[in-house]
Amino acid sequence: MKKVRRNTYYFLVSFLSAVMILTAVFANPAEIEAATASQTKKVLASSKVSATELYIIDSGKPGPVVMIVGGIHGNEIAGYRAASKFTNAKIKKGKLLVLPQANKRAVAISRRTASRGSDLNRSFPRTSRGSANTYIARDIYKTVKDYKVDWLIDMHEGFDYYKNKKTNSVGQTLIYYPSSKMTPMAKKIVNTVNKDISKSYRKFTLLRYPVKGSLARSSGQFLGVNAFIFETSMKQTLSTRINQQQKAANILLRELGML
Ligand SMILES: [Zn+2]
Repeated sequence: MKKVRRNTYYFLVSFLSAVMILTAVFANPAEIEAATASQTKKVLASSKVSATELYIIDSGKPGPVVMIVGGIHGNEIAGYRAASKFTNAKIKKGKLLVLPQANKRAVAISRRTASRGSDLNRSFPRTSRGSANTYIARDIYKTVKDYKVDWLIDMHEGFDYYKNKKTNSVGQTLIYYPSSKMTPMAKKIVNTVNKDISKSYRKFTLLRYPVKGSLARSSGQFLGVNAFIFETSMKQTLSTRINQQQKAANILLRELGML
């Protein structure tokens, strides 16, 4: 009797082991992938009034690190609305960092800056050893460094069209910090977005050198990031502007093989 029970026990153990091994071998690859991919949320400048959420989408596979930023200027609606659409993006490789409301207090009041706050896009280091001016600027810059961001798109808006020479607006431009990778990518993005725009004054123009103190300028010049500002014109409907911003980011992600 004892022997029979022991045999039954051994049989059960062997059977269960076999089932476990077979499950591991034949598991759906998508399930294994899902187990390693992750989506996390982090608060920048936590404990400060400027605290804001950073979304980190990790594919679990090696690849480029891309950062999408919106809301550095709180009145540039299409920027933060488009950026927020990427917080749940599915990517094939690399990492995607999304900071939809960089200047959350400015977004809340729909102003360029927070009340009694400074211009966030003039608050980043102006020299290689310099530091950012505010808590939130310091934390954003630290994020770019810590995650070793390769590509950065900062979404902004201008009040008019760059091609309207009566104004000094940079609406409908892509302003990049030149590098061997950034320059051809900037051309690719502008050419592709422009294909869907019929009126010539609405087409995007390529400009070089984001303004000193801006996130794109400091990241490009001092951290070697392929960085650019994408500016839509507020003269267009909000949905057109959001669409153009999303397109620019999608072209970037697609060109990098992440979508
Ligand atoms: Zn702006």
